[in-house]
Amino acid sequence: MKCYECSKNDKNTDTVAICIVCGRGVCKQHLVREDTPVWEGEYSIRLKCGMGVECKYEDVQHIKKILCIPCHEALKENY
Ligand SMILES: [Zn+2]
Ligand SMILES: [Zn+2]
Repeated sequence: MKCYECSKNDKNTDTVAICIVCGRGVCKQHLVREDTPVWEGEYSIRLKCGMGVECKYEDVQHIKKILCIPCHEALKENY
């Protein structure tokens, strides 16, 4: 998958993470890794585990902290 933010700028950068909120792939420059507050409602989260594959707790914790920049901005505004 290519970074969504980079693709807007005509760049093809491989993603290193998936935004927990919108499910877009983001590269190292465009991810925001931060302890997120607990969100109301459901994440539109797509994990590799689940659906019969066991989730490792650490994996989920790691993924939970990745946001893309637009979602991070939106999150801050909603504090
Ligand atoms: Zn990028
Ligand atoms: Zn996002």
